[in-house]
Amino acid sequence: MDHTHPHGKPISILTFSDNKEVIVDNRELEKIFNHPEIQDRKVVILSLIGAFRGGKSFFLDYCLRFLYAHFPSINNPSKPTQFFFRKDNNWMGKPDEPLKGFSWRSGAKRETIGINIWSDVFLHTIDRTGEEVAIFIMDTQGLFDNDSTPTDNSRIFALGTLISSIQVLNLKQQIQEDQLQYLQFATEFAQFNAKKNGRMDGKPFQNLTFLIRDWQNFDDYEFGPNGGKKYFEEEVLKIKSSHAPELRSVREFVKNSFEEIGCCLLPYPGMDVAGSKNYDGKWSKMDQTFKNELKHVIEHLLMPEKLTLKKINSQKLAVKEVKVYIQRYLKLFQS
Ligand code: GDP
Ligand code: MG
Repeated sequence: MDHTHPHGKPISILTFSDNKEVIVDNRELEKIFNHPEIQDRKVVILSLIGAFRGGKSFFLDYCLRFLYAHFPSINNPSKPTQFFFRKDNNWMGKPDEPLKGFSWRSGAKRETIGINIWSDVFLHTIDRTGEEVAIFIMDTQGLFDNDSTPTDNSRIFALGTLISSIQVLNLKQQIQEDQLQYLQFATEFAQFNAKKNGRMDGKPFQNLTFLIRDWQNFDDYEFGPNGGKKYFEEEVLKIKSSHAPELRSVREFVKNSFEEIGCCLLPYPGMDVAGSKNYDGKWSKMDQTFKNELKHVIEHLLMPEKLTLKKINSQKLAVKEVKVYIQRYLKLFQS
């Protein structure tokens, strides 16, 4: 399938060798982060992470549609810089437009291993504060799948957490207890490495959003961010008297590590999206409910007031500074 996008492509900054060693490509990272126009801008990095074939790249490609419809970018500057954000309700594009961007596919082969960053960077000026920001998109693979070991997985998750300001954890059907414990393990790992790089005040990480696909329990919790928030508070975070002490501490830990935690529930997308080998991503083939919720959830995540700035040691840093940290983090994981 042709995924060629007119304005950008996924750039691999970290992969695994056949014997699972981490390979980092610093030159590619430099190319994206060194663009003169963005050096002093504050940073938003959206990272989507989760198991293979969870519909991550597919979701991100719709995020790209949202971003290209609303923000200028380095490779698509023609759009005048909008000082006042105006929502475009047609951002999902034409009904039969094939989906392009991060490659995604049906079938058993992995398309993304490690960390890919979108080569183009979106530009925005925050209305309220006048801060100029650069928005980066990251696609990460290596969590909860069969042939990665827990260590590989938590390393990748930890790295995603260190690098991003919005970490979206893509899960199927529900949040499981072992995934929460795993999240704690990976976050501790990330915290440990963040500490090695400096002081730590306040909560170390910014936004964590659980994105639950193929949600079935919609009689109890409606689709979208509201049902998700309710589900998360009532069923996942709530400390029940029946919980063992270690399960309580997982919940406390997660709450204390992120400034903001959200959860969004998406319905099953329909047979064409979930099963058809020849499906090209067009929205005319999605179940109507899925299409509406997909739109809603992406708007919820990416509307300008939702864009969380990257902080390191409680400071909002600029692109040139964040780059140095990312390179340090990558180096740590290489050894
Ligand atoms: P990734 O490996 O997580 O990046 O997954 P992909 O984005 O490559 O998608 C894998 C397959 O899942 C494709 O056939 C998609 O059409 C399909 N898919 C996309 N979204 C969903 C979803 O919400 N639910 C289900 N069941 N399948 C999906
Ligand atoms: Mg993928």
